[in-house]
Amino acid sequence: MKKEFIFLGPPACGKGTQTDKLSRHLGFPHVDTGSLLRAAIKDQTPDGLVAQTYIEKGNLVPVEIVAKIIKSRLAQEDCKKGYILDGYPRSVEQAGFLEQINAEIDNGADATFMAIYFDIDESILIDRILYRRSCAGCGRIYNVKTKAPDVLNTCSKCGGELIQRADDTQEIAEARMKTYYEQTAPLIEYYEKKGLLKKIDANGAVKTVWNRLLKIIEG
Ligand code: AMP
Repeated sequence: MKKEFIFLGPPACGKGTQTDKLSRHLGFPHVDTGSLLRAAIKDQTPDGLVAQTYIEKGNLVPVEIVAKIIKSRLAQEDCKKGYILDGYPRSVEQAGFLEQINAEIDNGADATFMAIYFDIDESILIDRILYRRSCAGCGRIYNVKTKAPDVLNTCSKCGGELIQRADDTQEIAEARMKTYYEQTAPLIEYYEKKGLLKKIDANGAVKTVWNRLLKIIEG
């Protein structure tokens, strides 16, 4: 049966890293709207150009643009057995879009759906964002304070250059946090009421959180 997972939580709560691990563990694609939007910006597509003006303010990109991008991604062959969504939905309105998209794509076939909420001490998140770097080649995430590469600015896995995201600045990070609490956090109650939410303690080392996640996934 198809398995649909969504990961919820504030920026830099570690859900990207855990999605990556779970994606390799289950063999389902990691679908991350932030990366899809950054790719559209890099390619200078019409949607990418619009998205950029929102991303650089820490605001949500208009629902229609993100729904279009996510629908075409979830309809691809590699999502047939399941997927892990990271960064979508980000509002109750988007959750409604996702339900419609899933209904259309699944077309009556059986599927399970689980929302996993990363519950974390917020006080560490802005620092995490400011110290975050990612590899321009393979996308691996580093933290210059707590998970530095062996060689400065160089990915220890592929040798690629480490870069800082354009929206990982103090001002935009604060705006993103505000957007999260105003628009995304209500999804916790939304999925709780539907009986679809699992909460995970996201404080601690990557391995500790991963073990907690496996317990939830494997029941
Ligand atoms: P992220 O990589 O998840 O931190 O996302 C970076 C930025 O992309 C966010 O601050 C938003 O501006 C935009 N974004 C990502 N996902 C969505 C979404 N589901 N809806 C609207 N905007 C999004």
